[in-house]
Amino acid sequence: MDRRAQIIDVQGLQDLVEALLARGYTVVGPTVRDGAVVLGPISGVDDLPRGVHDRQDAALYRLETRDDDALFGYAAPVQGAKPVFFPADELLWRAHRSPDGFDVEDPDGERPGPVALIGARACDLTAVDIHDEVLMRRRYVDDHYARRRAGTFVVAVACGEPGGTCFCASVGTGPCPRTGYDLLLTELLEAEHHFLVEVGTSRGADVLADVPTTVATPSDVTAAGDVVARATERMGRTLETEGLRDLLYASAESPRWDDVASRCLACTSCTLVCPTCFCTSVGDVTDLTGDVAERHRVWDSCFSEQFSYIHGGALRSETRSRYRQWMTHKLGSWQDQFGMLGCVGCGRCITWCPAAIDITAEAAALRAAAPPPGPPAAPPVPVPTGVRP
Ligand code: SF4
Ligand code: SF4
Repeated sequence: MDRRAQIIDVQGLQDLVEALLARGYTVVGPTVRDGAVVLGPISGVDDLPRGVHDRQDAALYRLETRDDDALFGYAAPVQGAKPVFFPADELLWRAHRSPDGFDVEDPDGERPGPVALIGARACDLTAVDIHDEVLMRRRYVDDHYARRRAGTFVVAVACGEPGGTCFCASVGTGPCPRTGYDLLLTELLEAEHHFLVEVGTSRGADVLADVPTTVATPSDVTAAGDVVARATERMGRTLETEGLRDLLYASAESPRWDDVASRCLACTSCTLVCPTCFCTSVGDVTDLTGDVAERHRVWDSCFSEQFSYIHGGALRSETRSRYRQWMTHKLGSWQDQFGMLGCVGCGRCITWCPAAIDITAEAAALRAAAPPPGPPAAPPVPVPTGVRP
């Protein structure tokens, strides 16, 4: 496999998309809809968000026009790949009444071919890897997720325009993907509009063989490195990760949780946009005749009171304890459960929080108020592995 970096132009990117479509992939990439960059089916470069930039800050998202034709000149789309592989509403099964009882239909028969993700960011590839760990690599495999993930082809793009809420550099996930891609693009705009392409897998090399390329020059490679270096310097926010798990365990009774609860609306937006959140609930529906029944799995959120309901009441009836649960899980107990942070630094929970609550600012406030560090803390309670952490 030739791993030398190659150069393709904009027509080459179009050829790449067409090569993936010809192989039967459902090609999903960034596109503009309703004033925002979102992921959706695409058939070529004309569907990509040409010449736009996203201004992001706490509770702020605006698309602005750039003075060039960049196709990847924005930070994180509104959502990562989560809805592609783990949809907000998953039909688990459908049953039809029959003379002898009922017949169960397999909803997987309706699914299109494998997905090719175009333009995946480093933070979102890490989030996919986290979902793979949680939903596929452990004792219980989520078959629905595993089927959607099977055969995924990834064309990643190094981030050159971090948003004001991004902090992937400080949590070590970006701005340039290190693994998890078949092909990695870096968009170069200075002389001509072209892309440096790095091959990650033999599948990637096979698809790239269908596209006219030239071998990248040393100056192309340097220019691509500069794109990533500039993005790292312009990262909007920082999260100090040193001792974070112990800090959160030691802060279980911090008055800061009351402070954040006075601002939090418990709207659940942060968990819905978060690419690593995976909590769900299950509901059954029937049609009016009672002849067809369906079971759906839908996204749920630890910010809703109902989520922690067990017989007799909710375990976390106050917003204070719900925010504490979410943040302590993301940044602390996730490390005990899965051996990694549950946050990839995409900043979406900051951008899309209507109350402008900022997980990096909350972590910094806890750190500022914390007592001097002692020995490593034990988890406050055992956290079982399952769908309701
Ligand atoms: S932190 Fe913000 S987005 Fe999350 S539930 Fe509270 S108000 Fe909603
Ligand atoms: S907690 Fe916030 S910044 Fe971290 S991965 Fe989730 S949405 Fe992104």
